[in-house]
Amino acid sequence: NGQAFDAIVLGAGAAGLMAAAVAGQRGKRVLLVDHNPEAGRKILISGGGRCNFTNLGTAPDRYLSDNLHFAKSALSRYTPRDFIDLVEAHGIAWHEKTLGQLFCDGSARQIVALLLEECAKGQVRLAFGEPVSHIDYGDGLYRVMMAGTRHTAPVLVIATGGPSIPKLGASGFAYDLARRFDLGVIQPRPALVPFTLGEDEALFRELSGVSTEVEVHWKKAHFREAALFTHRGLSGPAMLQISSYWQHRTPIQVDFVPDAARGWLVDAKRAAPRQTLRRTLAERLPERLADALLDKLGMAGELGAQGDRALVRAEEALRRWAFTPNGTEGFAKAEVTAGGIATAGLSSQTMEARKVPGLYAIGEAVDVTGWLGGYNFQWAWASAVACGRAIP
Ligand code: FAD
Repeated sequence: NGQAFDAIVLGAGAAGLMAAAVAGQRGKRVLLVDHNPEAGRKILISGGGRCNFTNLGTAPDRYLSDNLHFAKSALSRYTPRDFIDLVEAHGIAWHEKTLGQLFCDGSARQIVALLLEECAKGQVRLAFGEPVSHIDYGDGLYRVMMAGTRHTAPVLVIATGGPSIPKLGASGFAYDLARRFDLGVIQPRPALVPFTLGEDEALFRELSGVSTEVEVHWKKAHFREAALFTHRGLSGPAMLQISSYWQHRTPIQVDFVPDAARGWLVDAKRAAPRQTLRRTLAERLPERLADALLDKLGMAGELGAQGDRALVRAEEALRRWAFTPNGTEGFAKAEVTAGGIATAGLSSQTMEARKVPGLYAIGEAVDVTGWLGGYNFQWAWASAVACGRAIP
């Protein structure tokens, strides 16, 4: 029993669906496998249900990887415009929200439907809802056992993503498989993930629900976006972005007043000495945050009662507020996994393993991780197209 294919694609997420469609439409006989009963679960919940499917600002420097050059080739050969053309060809309405982020006007379901239609055009065979029980390789053929059936192909594409959000069926399967074929794996870690805070940072936890625009810095990385205080720590786009770069036990710096001119507090004192510090801060920050920060600084009262040096020090403190998370919310809450299959073992042109003929790895399984804002899907599409076009 079982059937012979030109390629077996493991994982019907963003990358696997795209690679299968592209190869299928080139006339390849493709089997697309997923242990979930439906395709693209992460697409369905992405972008708050509207799927932030690409970013107009896509550029290699918006990705993290051990080799920052690896993603260049694929990203330049399949651009956001290429995906927009596909979205428009399917009559899906879209809009730019902010910072180049493109979303469906309707629902993420439209993107999954688009990908399944493209697969149907390529006569891709779907095998969903069955676990893969065994994979082996010999005589130039990969053999994939599932539901008691053995399928074979000279090409195997690893598109099973990373382990973030296991309750959606995410797994570390890609890494196990890669290691079996002697591919390296860069230590996977949760990324785009909220921070947790210890007792020493309790100030922040009392602010649960407060959100404010900040500029956050960690070493050379910095982002200007909203931060959100949670009952466990810090979240919001600014914090998710910096989490991808952060290393444990190191401090993060926050500028709470990124729009204020230098010397802003002293200027405010000159202009209105009777105004309270609290009111002055609350012009730029949510009141609860202003109160908490002043409390921490041990300052109160009218501006006129403060010395200029104390005001300069306070401004500095607000611009370089340092905190050290005690960890993150982990893979359970991470939007992506950083690290993964080492790019050193893969061709950046085709995503094929250099030393294992016919084995390809694409999407989040690979050690390429994008910023928040549609960059991860763009990598999934681009790496999948590079692979789908190359499958012999
Ligand atoms: P996945 O989409 O994760 O697909 C992997 C597939 O492999 C899954 O279908 C899974 O069921 C299957 N699989 C796993 N293990 C096995 C196994 N052992 N056997 C068989 N099949 C298996 N990115 C953006 O760019 N924009 C967004 O708006 C966005 N929003 C997100 C929101 C959330 C809540 C999350 C969690 C992620 C979001 N992301 C977003 C990230 C994006 O979803 C991923 O980067 C992208 O889905 C990766 O595509 P992929 O195909 O490599 O992996």
